[in-house]
Amino acid sequence: MDCIFCKIASGEIPSQKVYEDESVVAFRDINPQAPVHVLVIPRVHIASIDEVSEENIEAATAVLRAIPRVAAVAGLTNGYRVITNCGEDGCQSVKHMHFHVLGGKKLAETMG
Ligand code: 5GP
Ligand code: ZN
Repeated sequence: MDCIFCKIASGEIPSQKVYEDESVVAFRDINPQAPVHVLVIPRVHIASIDEVSEENIEAATAVLRAIPRVAAVAGLTNGYRVITNCGEDGCQSVKHMHFHVLGGKKLAETMG
């Protein structure tokens, strides 16, 4: 499968990793939307949150479990925002589930 985030997870494509464990990789977004903008992904390919199922729930849960650790490593001591875009209306551009972790300043109150 030709998936850019699978290649980042495997190290085939370089990234600025901030955290990794056996199930999860977190790396800095190439086009940051906030002073801190990190993407947290499962190592296994899950296309979007719409594809979370009994079969991959452990990998999906591992991502959620990792997010507070990623936030701590990234220095987000005063809060942060977590977003996952899904599908066309969600403007998902990379079809490997990822959670944006944004912070480093007081973020905008609007989201949509
Ligand atoms: P989406 O729009 O799918 O929710 O978010 C995809 C994110 O991946 C975007 O914020 C984009 O900047 C980021 N991105 C796309 N390609 C790369 C890449 O090769 N490396 C890194 N670090 N981020 C990427
Ligand atoms: Zn993938």
